[in-house]
Amino acid sequence: ENALYIVATPVGNLGDMTPRAVDVLAAVDMVAAEDTRHSQRLFAHFEINTPLAAYHDHSGEGRVDWLLQKLHDGGSVALISDAGTPLISDPGYRIVRRAREQGIKVIPVPGACAFVAALSAAGLPSDRFSFEGFLAAKPGTRRNQLEKLAADTRTLVFYEAPHRVADTLAAMAEVFGAGREAVIARELTKAFETIHFAPLAELAAWVAADSNQQRGEIVLLVRGAPEPGDEGLDPESIRIMEILRQELP
Ligand code: SAM
Repeated sequence: ENALYIVATPVGNLGDMTPRAVDVLAAVDMVAAEDTRHSQRLFAHFEINTPLAAYHDHSGEGRVDWLLQKLHDGGSVALISDAGTPLISDPGYRIVRRAREQGIKVIPVPGACAFVAALSAAGLPSDRFSFEGFLAAKPGTRRNQLEKLAADTRTLVFYEAPHRVADTLAAMAEVFGAGREAVIARELTKAFETIHFAPLAELAAWVAADSNQQRGEIVLLVRGAPEPGDEGLDPESIRIMEILRQELP
């Protein structure tokens, strides 16, 4: 079908590729990829022979226009990123936006996404959460960003680079409080998958003490601030308050 398909690919385990993703990538006229060499390996594994073209949100207008022209000419194009769902801390926003403005059909082909996998297994409240993506690299800016989030009652979800994770957890323990529950979800779906739950100060110390925890791909999750009125309660009492609030009229 003449459309721009937004196709999720695995975040590690190739078994998470969906049959529909394989079918769509094999059937379209062109696949726009963040890194064509990286995607070549995925294509080889699934025996997909569709031509690949590089796409980035900072690709020149010419590249975006060229892909959109293929769609206007009746062709079909799929967008993939190196891993997981395009547009989630990955390129794609610009072409999806332009496609919609130009009346081109955009069809999602959902699949793996690292933060959704992490949230689903973390054991932190998942009814309301805020996906914050990557924090700024500069420590001062990062700290300001954390301070703005300190009173948020939703579960906070971050992507973090391995060489910064120890510093970020230490800053989080200072800004959010040592006792705030947090989770590191590392190397999800891969051989060294680790999901570790602890109060922030403990988690920061655990990661700082073991360089193996400062490798690979990482999602950090932090419990939201206590609801107004619950401040000063320990986590168990907050859990009971939550149950009561849900059960009582
Ligand atoms: N689009 C991707 C998605 O759907 O999750 C995210 C792309 S972003 C450039 C890459 C970051 O996602 C990594 O630095 C890490 O924070 C997180 N990530 C990706 N794969 C992961 C995995 N297998 N385990 C934990 N985190 C992962």
